Amino acid sequence: MEPRAVIGLEIHVQITSLKTKLFCGCSSDYRRAQPNTHVCPVCLGLPGALPVTNEEAVHKAIQLCLAINGKVAKVLRFDRKHYFYPDLPKNYQITQYLEPICRGGYVEIETPSGAKRVRIRRINIEEDPGRIVYPGGSPHTSPYVLVDYNRSGIALLEIVTEPDMSSPEEAAAFLEKLRSIVEHLGICDCGLEGSMRADANISIEGGERVEIKNITGIQEVKRALAYEYTRQRDLVLKGLKVKRETRHWDPVRKVTLPARAKEAEEDYRYMPEPNLPPIPIPEDLVAKLRESLPELPDARVKRLIEQYGLRPQTAKVLVSRKVLADFFEDAAKTYRGDVGRLANYIVNDLLNWLKDEDLRPLYSRVKPSHVARVMELVDSGVISIRQAKELAEHLVRTGEEPDKLVEKLGYTRIADPEKLRPIVEKVIRENPRAVRDALRNPRAINFLVGMIMRETRGRADPVVARRLVEEALRKLRRSES
Ligand code: ADP
Ligand code: MG
Ligand code: ZN
Repeated sequence: MEPRAVIGLEIHVQITSLKTKLFCGCSSDYRRAQPNTHVCPVCLGLPGALPVTNEEAVHKAIQLCLAINGKVAKVLRFDRKHYFYPDLPKNYQITQYLEPICRGGYVEIETPSGAKRVRIRRINIEEDPGRIVYPGGSPHTSPYVLVDYNRSGIALLEIVTEPDMSSPEEAAAFLEKLRSIVEHLGICDCGLEGSMRADANISIEGGERVEIKNITGIQEVKRALAYEYTRQRDLVLKGLKVKRETRHWDPVRKVTLPARAKEAEEDYRYMPEPNLPPIPIPEDLVAKLRESLPELPDARVKRLIEQYGLRPQTAKVLVSRKVLADFFEDAAKTYRGDVGRLANYIVNDLLNWLKDEDLRPLYSRVKPSHVARVMELVDSGVISIRQAKELAEHLVRTGEEPDKLVEKLGYTRIADPEKLRPIVEKVIRENPRAVRDALRNPRAINFLVGMIMRETRGRADPVVARRLVEEALRKLRRSES
């Protein structure tokens, strides 16, 4: 039997909904800005600068705690974690150590053997370090490095799980659920590059654990864990021991590699942050935040099933990303037909043309009303279902209106007998054997109709096409007899 994996995750989620950083008034929109333009004495760590806590960040952290059934701290406390690295201008990071904002709680995931709870150990509020750019691609191939402090001080939530997952698939299921929760809470637009990053810890039951640092993307976490599981299992099967260490995931070579030796906990010299005295968290604030919790993923899945009659699996795929579920509901509002088919079209056809975790083309180019319109075109017989499927790619690529695309692609259905007749004659001419079959067996007509559909790339009206084939066969019979 395969040995069992033990997996625990540490996830960093940026609070991308905030206008400003965690302890200063700098804009938190660092992705589009010129390097080192969203900076000030606080996030550059200049002497004498004083941090002021962003209240909204604390509120978001408390809401996440409530959403996962955790216990909110009675007092808001921050600590300093010391280490030296060019991306950390103060030489310490303000984080939470002694008293995290949240303790306990759980997230429920689905596994092939049923529902399972992954316990949360703690959630901390902390600041993101700056971003290091290696002009040569990696530390070893770069003669110098660049540092961009725009990211320095961006608000982060660190979520630490108990080692409750037992396969890379379960870890991915957990991350997908967590991502949907933080998206629904308005904490994170997790479609943004680097907004959700994970450190993955894995051991083989009874053995030492390995920590894989800083993996971006859920599929990458799954791949990294699968690789590391195999590596450790092979060691164990050879009778060798797994070494306790930190490794890096190389997304290009798809392997984990040993990383620098990690500081021991005591090296961080944790101490209370003297510039941010502890402040009590009032119970009525927590109560108010609980009341204002938005609809969360599990409840939304249930509602979509009840309200729209969706299949559970379809509802789950939609809700796995907030923008996807929003997109569906917006489209459903403007569509009078079968919303189940609309949902399938989004989940099966549109998603097909989006890259894994990046849904941006969906909401920046395609409009919900476009998808509703495609369904209407099918309902009214202007295009076939097959054409609607083909249209999905063009919708995602161009963002153009369906009616325009249909015209451009020449998709409109051919129902005019005069236009279809030459195609029918061609098919009859080119398929003498099928014609002989069809003359004897009416069921063999389907093949000929299928050939006409193929010739017209699905545009022929199948009813008219069949009538014309039957007509042509009657003529042949007459001329034979
Ligand atoms: P550290 O203090 O070194 O960060 P922690 O005990 O805080 O270690 O655990 C860090 C992460 O490692 C947590 O997510 C936890 O679930 C996970 N973890 C702990 N023990 C194991 C183990 N035996 N195998 C896999 N993961 C583990
Ligand atoms: Mg830790
Ligand atoms: Zn600043």
